[in-house]
Amino acid sequence: MENIFDVIIVGAGAVGCAIARELSKYELKVAVLEKESDVAAGTSGRNSAVVHAGFNNKPGSLMAKFCVQGNLGFEKICRELSVPYKKTGKLVVAFEESDIQGIEKLMEAGRKNGTPGLELIGAEEVKKLEPHVGGIAAMFSKNTAITNPFIYTVALAENAVVNGVKFYLEAEVRGISKKDGVFRVKSAKGNFFSRYLINSAGLYSDKIAFMAGEPGYKIYPCRGQYYILDKRTRDYLKMPVYPVPRPGIGGLGVHLTPTMEGNILIGPSAEYIKTKSDYGVTKDVMKQLFKEAKELLPPLSLKHVIRSYSGIRSKIVGPKVGGFGDFIIEESYKVQGLINLIGIESPGLTSSIPISRMVRDIIGSKEELVEKREFINERKGILEFRELPIEDKARLIKECPDYGEIVCRCEGITRKEILDAINNPLGVKTLAGIKYRARAMMGRCQGGYCLTRIVDILTNEYGILPEEITVRGKNSRMFTGKVK
Ligand SMILES: Cc1cc2nc3c(=O)[nH]c(=O)nc-3n(C[C@H](O)[C@H](O)[C@H](O)COP(=O)(O)OP(=O)(O)OC[C@H]3O[C@@H](n4cnc5c(N)ncnc54)[C@H](O)[C@@H]3O)c2cc1C
Repeated sequence: MENIFDVIIVGAGAVGCAIARELSKYELKVAVLEKESDVAAGTSGRNSAVVHAGFNNKPGSLMAKFCVQGNLGFEKICRELSVPYKKTGKLVVAFEESDIQGIEKLMEAGRKNGTPGLELIGAEEVKKLEPHVGGIAAMFSKNTAITNPFIYTVALAENAVVNGVKFYLEAEVRGISKKDGVFRVKSAKGNFFSRYLINSAGLYSDKIAFMAGEPGYKIYPCRGQYYILDKRTRDYLKMPVYPVPRPGIGGLGVHLTPTMEGNILIGPSAEYIKTKSDYGVTKDVMKQLFKEAKELLPPLSLKHVIRSYSGIRSKIVGPKVGGFGDFIIEESYKVQGLINLIGIESPGLTSSIPISRMVRDIIGSKEELVEKREFINERKGILEFRELPIEDKARLIKECPDYGEIVCRCEGITRKEILDAINNPLGVKTLAGIKYRARAMMGRCQGGYCLTRIVDILTNEYGILPEEITVRGKNSRMFTGKVK
């Protein structure tokens, strides 16, 4: 039987993919089962994309330890895997005297957690760093950075694939049993068998644990809504700007975050919801978001908004308790070989590499792990043509004329980049997959111009009928048939 592995990982978010990559360094047969049509389809593709520095987390917690470690190693992993990364720094701004106490608390937590580079600065220095931001003082965190969480997750997955890990997309796990030390995992893509089962299913990790015989966990979904602003706002903000956190249900407060691509994110809100798949945005919350964002950055206007989205936190603390829990990463006492990752909310993206090492160590404490001699630790991403000097562009167009055709005008994406995005190592051919890999359809017109051109490329180059093209896999066909 071919579906026999040493390790099965359920969930291809940033954490599942980091674990896959970490385990691919060893002589292990590893599979990742993901219910969606691409990686990063859950929370990992729907967050603030901040590489946190570790002062927000409770001293002594796993969150604090892994956030600081993750932050310190993030630049290196991004360099190795060709992932966008920018050490912007971050401001936590005080608007009233009482906020200063809040800042002192953060600095104290940062000191205990080992966060380097924290500094209390006055209003004048705030103005120098961010001329459009008000406030009477702020904490400046030198080590905070931003990244692209989708590309980060794709890069980890692609590097894992190159090193032998098998990814199965649209392979929802529907049942788990264990006999004679072997897990039998029933999925939408058939049955899989393994000695270890790693439950990295984010919002659904309680459900996977339950299926595997560990019923004690509960995840409370807590939604965060966002606005995305046009790149015309890029000069308003150089770094993430947060208010001083106030006690509440467990977010960091509505903040402003520049993206790697030059947009600004406003959000997230924090509201407990009933359904784990409810990615909607709501009028009242969005109105409040904009109001709070404008207090932080007065020049903002609603005309800058190009899109909205939401992400859902996997909380282990319910609305009555509020605040943050801690990451739970442990082997089940009841079901040997089942490693559960529960409550991986923020800073889970930042902490993904240290989390993956902890999972490796749990396995390593049970059996000897033999390092692969031929492990490849680097990955090349899609060349960003728009960022190159004119001479390099001219040379590339000569070498490959597909660089000479701009398909997405808003973002300046060439036909060659679209082709590279379609030919990805995971075999994803959805429109969302192309969009997030190549940045096409992400500009002001949101695909109004380039969508049909991308469809032409897919149909002509790959022999796919328009009716077969989906936005995000099953049940999301773009076209139903010809109109003329
Ligand atoms: C609003 C918001 C803002 C955030 N901002 C930040 C930030 O700035 N910095 C930071 O460090 N962290 C941030 N986080 C946290 C971070 O995004 C998460 O901690 C991280 O993405 C969790 O990754 P994951 O792999 O555990 O979960 P996910 O990305 O959710 O992955 C779990 C995967 O499991 C799959 N799955 C579920 N059930 C099944 C099944 N039955 N079969 C197969 N597959 C299944 C899902 O489809 C999903 O792809 C934020 C989170 C939110 C919600």
